[in-house]
Amino acid sequence: MRTRLRVFFVCLLFAAVNATRVAAQQCTIVPKAANLGETLRLTCTGDVASAKWNDRTIHLFPQSDGKKFGLMPVSVKDAPGPDTIEFLSSQGAKFDSEKFTVRATRFPSENVRLSADIEALRSTPEEIKLLTDFRNGVSELRFWQDPLAPPVDGCVTSPFGVKRLHNGKPTGEFHGGIDQRTPAGEPIRAIADGKIVYAQKFNVLGNAVGIDHGQGLGSMYLHMSKLEVTPGSSVKKGDVLGYAGSTGRSTGPHLHWVLYANGVNVNAAQWVKLAACPRPPKTK
Ligand SMILES: [Zn+2]
Repeated sequence: MRTRLRVFFVCLLFAAVNATRVAAQQCTIVPKAANLGETLRLTCTGDVASAKWNDRTIHLFPQSDGKKFGLMPVSVKDAPGPDTIEFLSSQGAKFDSEKFTVRATRFPSENVRLSADIEALRSTPEEIKLLTDFRNGVSELRFWQDPLAPPVDGCVTSPFGVKRLHNGKPTGEFHGGIDQRTPAGEPIRAIADGKIVYAQKFNVLGNAVGIDHGQGLGSMYLHMSKLEVTPGSSVKKGDVLGYAGSTGRSTGPHLHWVLYANGVNVNAAQWVKLAACPRPPKTK
C-alpha cells in the first residue's frame, strides 16, 4: 500500500514539472537546427514585439490567429554552432529565450567566365541606394502566404551560396540567389502576393523587379528582356512580372532570383521545391 502511494506522488510531481515547462515555453523556433542561408520561423503567444540574435533584431508581427510571427534569417556568413534567440516585449523587456543550432554548411565553388565589357559593369550610387533601401525596408502588412511558388519551371543551374570566381579569380562573394534555366522570352512570375517596389533597368542586374511581400519578406528577379509591371502596383502570386533575358551581368538567358528575409539573402530552396539540372557528362 505504502509503495503504491509513493508511486502516485512521484507521478504527480512529474506532471507538475512538465506543466511548468509547457507554460514557460511561449516562443518557438522552427526549424530547431538550420543550415547557413536558411530562415527560422519564430512564433510567440503573448506580448512579444521583437527577437534578437547577436546583432540582428527582427520584428514579430500580430497574425490573424492572435500569435506573433517573424522571420529570422541565418546568413551565409554566420558562425555555426549552438546559439540562443532572445524574445523581447514591446517595452524591450526579456520575454523568453530559446535555443537553436546553426549547422556547419559547405558551399561549392564555381567559376564564371565573363567578357571584359560585362565584368566592367558597375552599379551607380543611385542603384545601390535603391537596392539597399528595398532590402532593409520592412512593411507591416503581410501579403505573402505559404506556400511560395517558383517563379519559373526550369531546373537549377546554380544554387544559393556557391562561392563565386570570375574568370578564375575569387571575388569573395557568394551566389546570393538561385539561377534557373529559363529560355529567353519565358514569363517570370511572382512567388507570392506583394507590392512592386521597383521595375527598371540596372547596370549589373539588367531589367529587374523587386517585390515587397510584407513583414520582412522580399524577392527580386533579374536579367529580364522585358518588364510587365510598374513600381507601386500590387501583384498576386503567379502574376507575370516580365520575360526572361540576359540583360546586365549575365552570360546567357536565365533567371537569377533572390529571396530576402529581413534584409538578408536566404536560400529559397528551403521555401520552394526546385530540381537541380542534370550535370553534363564529364569530358576530357
Ligand atoms: Zn545568379
